[in-house]
Amino acid sequence: MCRHLAYLGPAVPLDDLLFDAPESLERQAYAPRQMHGGGTVNVDGYGVGWFPGPVRYRRAGPIWADANLRQLARTTASTAFLAAVRSATVGMPVVDPACAPFTDGTWLFSHNGRVSDWPESVAGLAGTVPVTDLLTMDAPTDSALLWTLVRRRLEAGLAPADVLAGLVREVVAVAPASRLNFLMTDGSVIAGTTWTHSLWVLHDGESVTLASEPLDGDDAWREIPDRHVVLADPSTVEVRPI
Ligand code: GLN
Repeated sequence: MCRHLAYLGPAVPLDDLLFDAPESLERQAYAPRQMHGGGTVNVDGYGVGWFPGPVRYRRAGPIWADANLRQLARTTASTAFLAAVRSATVGMPVVDPACAPFTDGTWLFSHNGRVSDWPESVAGLAGTVPVTDLLTMDAPTDSALLWTLVRRRLEAGLAPADVLAGLVREVVAVAPASRLNFLMTDGSVIAGTTWTHSLWVLHDGESVTLASEPLDGDDAWREIPDRHVVLADPSTVEVRPI
């Protein structure tokens, strides 16, 4: 059920986290350890977005088969990025634009999970956004719809952690078996949620990394409890119940 990560801090090459760490995102694509019953491998797509920008690169297929990304990641250092590998939910298209991160040019967004009883369960929620938003969604997937809802609320000026926590509450009210782990960054803060899937944080006062699974054996990784929202920057990590 997808694995994702976001980093803020001193510039590091993207490949440190994507390919080189002992439990890198690439490794989590073929040997994840904490899928919580939501799939086995994450081979349907991948993407990374980084600041300044955001610049985004995303493709369908397994991350390890892309030599171009490998080279790009080796030669690109960033102070803020978000990356994901995808295990497509059954019935959803396996195409480039269905892969995270989604972006509006300010935020990068990723969803690990699924909306239960898609699409009927969330038809009412979809009806709250302008029809043109639905017609221009990146892909006809649950994650793309969730992003459409998130971006409109951000544009309305709502605080990022409130947007994500509020959306979790609204979705589970109509689709209770949903799995809703979100990650989002604008290059200054990371907001995220846990709703069924795992999420870990590594924070040393200079940098902060949030990831579905620890990227290495560092004892400082802390698990975010289930059903929580997190707001983090390099100096602070706030975690509260949804
Ligand atoms: N449901 C989303 C998709 O199909 C996310 C899948 C996941 O977390 N595995 O893209």
